[in-house]
Amino acid sequence: MSSCCAPSTTISTASCPACAKRGIQIDNITPRHTLKREFREEIATANHYYFCETADCNTVYFSEDGKQSFTTEQLINPVTCKSTSPETPLCYCYKITKGDVIDEYQRSGESSVIEQIEQKMADKPCFCDKSNPRGVCCTTEIERWMKDQGIGESESSSSDPCCG
Ligand SMILES: [Zn+2]
Repeated sequence: MSSCCAPSTTISTASCPACAKRGIQIDNITPRHTLKREFREEIATANHYYFCETADCNTVYFSEDGKQSFTTEQLINPVTCKSTSPETPLCYCYKITKGDVIDEYQRSGESSVIEQIEQKMADKPCFCDKSNPRGVCCTTEIERWMKDQGIGESESSSSDPCCG
């Protein structure tokens, strides 16, 4: 039934073997750095790997063929979108945790986390592809997480002074 002229640009639809949600394709360099040392060798050069972003799914990475999967316990750090613990990193490059941001918010009513990251990036380049389990820059996910927590960014417009 297959045609020799079938388009080769089919979009991958690899789904997580644990939760059946579609994964995000990542570069193999990412699990080779974010997995604990003893699991890194299992990342095969010829295989493609995907990241599962489902919050309550314990699987972090899986291979395109579904034969391999890696769970949160096999990574060095807790995964931002899968762990609510205060020790969970929001920014893996500069080690800023959920607890750090919540503490600052409780003290000051705002968060400077994005500015902190921008300042640190100016001093030392980030390396998200090797540090963030998702393999991409963390700022979009931090902004989404802060919105979920009801945490405002520090550049937000000043609140009504009569209600202090
Ligand atoms: Zn999953």
